[in-house]
Amino acid sequence: MRTIGLIGGMSWVSTAEYYRLINQAVAQQLGALHSARIVLVSVDFAPVAQAQHDGRWDAAAAVLVDAAQRLQAAGADCIVLCTNTMHKLADRIAAAVPLPFLHIADATGAAARASGLTTVGLLATGFTMEQPFLRERLEREHGLRVLVPDAPARADVHRIIYEELCKDVVTDASRARYLQVIDQLTGAGAQAILLGCTEIALLVKPEHTQLPLLDTTALHAHAAVNFALAQMPARKDAP
Ligand code: GLU
Repeated sequence: MRTIGLIGGMSWVSTAEYYRLINQAVAQQLGALHSARIVLVSVDFAPVAQAQHDGRWDAAAAVLVDAAQRLQAAGADCIVLCTNTMHKLADRIAAAVPLPFLHIADATGAAARASGLTTVGLLATGFTMEQPFLRERLEREHGLRVLVPDAPARADVHRIIYEELCKDVVTDASRARYLQVIDQLTGAGAQAILLGCTEIALLVKPEHTQLPLLDTTALHAHAAVNFALAQMPARKDAP
């Protein structure tokens, strides 16, 4: 089994989900007491989030490049960056180490295409909804049309991520607001909702909406497991 390298802490709430989902999938595929080989570098999110909001992306890149190099030194076989927003810096992080970088948009785009989807509504941080780094990769590499909510809705979606979800706070009021935004995107033609921020699946679950959800956290975690187990025989029941 290959070792998965996680750059986490953005936020710790979703990194915990990656850890759980990756281990669950490995246990399911290999059986017995198998669990994933993982190396995690978890950053302090406060200065990173401050750098994002100040537009100091070079400072954020320095933190994440350092994290990738630490993963390589610790024996990771790949890099998994556990946040959509920081994929703005994906090229710089990927260039810093000679390991495969498993891009979150590729895991998501492949799942969307496999489901026959052509138009998806994106919920994410303001950075991800308003800047091209994720949308363009989904459009260019995966042939998807990506819709974003209007400006007041984007502001609410962004605020709830940083003020609540990244602090492990999940409220019915915020879920109701997200469901309103999902209705808006449905009206605009979305066939599915792309949960393009790794904490959103904790707030909006399949039972809350009729629309299919593309959960980037789960899809990215499963891509990591596929990478880790690529050369493994299926289901070994001995430990
Ligand atoms: N986890 C979030 C994401 O997937 C937001 C936190 C961050 O800005 O990295 O975009």
